[in-house]
Amino acid sequence: MKKATHLFLFVFLACWTASSSWADHPKLMVLRGNITELSELNIPWVLSEHGHHVFDSKYLPAINQFREQGHDHFIIKPFSAFKPITKNQTKGNANPNIQGLLNQLDIGRWYNDVVTLSSWSRRTATTGNVSAANWLANQFSQMGYTVSQPSFTVQGQSTKNIMAEKVGTVRPDDWYLVGAHMDSISNTSQAPGAVDNASGCAAVVEMARVVKDMDFEASLLFICYSGEEQGLHGSAFHVSTLSNNQTLSQLKAALTMDMIGYSSNNDRELLIESSQAHTQLMNLIASMAATYAPGLTTYTSTNYWGSDHVPYIDAGVPAVLLIDDDYGVYPGYHRSTDQPENIDQDQAMKIITTNLATLANLAGAVFSDDLIFMDDFE
Ligand SMILES: [Zn+2]
Repeated sequence: MKKATHLFLFVFLACWTASSSWADHPKLMVLRGNITELSELNIPWVLSEHGHHVFDSKYLPAINQFREQGHDHFIIKPFSAFKPITKNQTKGNANPNIQGLLNQLDIGRWYNDVVTLSSWSRRTATTGNVSAANWLANQFSQMGYTVSQPSFTVQGQSTKNIMAEKVGTVRPDDWYLVGAHMDSISNTSQAPGAVDNASGCAAVVEMARVVKDMDFEASLLFICYSGEEQGLHGSAFHVSTLSNNQTLSQLKAALTMDMIGYSSNNDRELLIESSQAHTQLMNLIASMAATYAPGLTTYTSTNYWGSDHVPYIDAGVPAVLLIDDDYGVYPGYHRSTDQPENIDQDQAMKIITTNLATLANLAGAVFSDDLIFMDDFE
C-alpha cells in the first residue's frame, strides 16, 4: 500500500470512527458482511474495517445483481445509516479470584474441540449437524449440567438447540446466557465451519467446562444454536420459548459469539456489537478485555446485525455479539476451506477470556476461601 493511500485511509478512518463528517456523502454506501464471495466483481472498496465495506454507489447495481443470484449474506445501507465504530479500551483493576478462574481456560483443549466439531459437516438438519449436536449434549452432560435439546423446524425440517443449565445459589431467577451457533454452511457439500462457528461453539463448551464445579449467584445457560445460517432460527426459537413461558424478563444478558478465531493481519482484535440501549454492557466487556486480555484491541459497534444476538436485542434483552474484527475479509467464509488451520488461537483465547471474565462479573462467580488457599499452594 502506497503512502498516499495510507494517509487517505488514516484520515478516512479517523472520520469514520470519530465524527459523522463523511456521513452526508451522498455517493458512499456501506456493505455489511463478508466480501469474499464478491471478489469476482472487483469492487474497489474505499475502506474495509470491522466487517463494514465502504463503496461508491455506482457499484450498487452490480452488487444487487450478484445478490439476486442467491448471494444474500450481507446488507447494504447508505453510509449515513451507520453509526461510528469506536475503539473502546478502559482498563479496570484485576480481581485475583477472577484471574485464577481465567487461568483455567485451556486453549489447546478448545482447539481440539474446534477440530472435532469441524470434522462434521454441520449444515442444519443434516446427519453431521445431528452428530455434532449429540456430541455437544454429551459434553455438557458429562460436566454435570442439566441438558435439554428443544427442537424446532427450519424450512420444514426438524433441528435442535443444545442447552446446558446451572441454577444460581443466590438469585436463581436471574439468568445469564452464553451462546453460539453450531450449524455451518458452505459452497460445496462439505461445510467444516471451523471459524464459522466451531470457534464460538467450542468456546461455549470451554467456558462451561471451567465453571462446571463452581457456584454462581445467578443461573447460567450455555446454548449452541442450530439454524443460524438460514436466518437466526435457533436463537429466535429460544426467544419465542422464553416469551411463551413469560420468562423473557429473567434473562439479564445474552453473551453470544460468532467467528472468534480469525485474524487477517496477526493483530488481536475483538468487535463487540449490540444496540445503543446496551452500551453499558458493551463497555463492561471492553473493560474486561482491557483488564484481563492484554494485547486485545476492542471496538464497539451499535450497528447490530446478522447473528444470534439480534433476536434477543429485538426482544429487549441486553445482548451482545463478540466477533473477530476481521471476519468481513475471511477467505474461508461459507466455504469448504473454513478449516481449523486458519484459526489464530491466541486471538480466540483472548476473546474467550474476555467473555468468561464478563460472565463471572455479571452472574456473580462465588469464590471460596478454600479455593484461594489451594491456588496459593499449586
Ligand atoms: Zn456465523
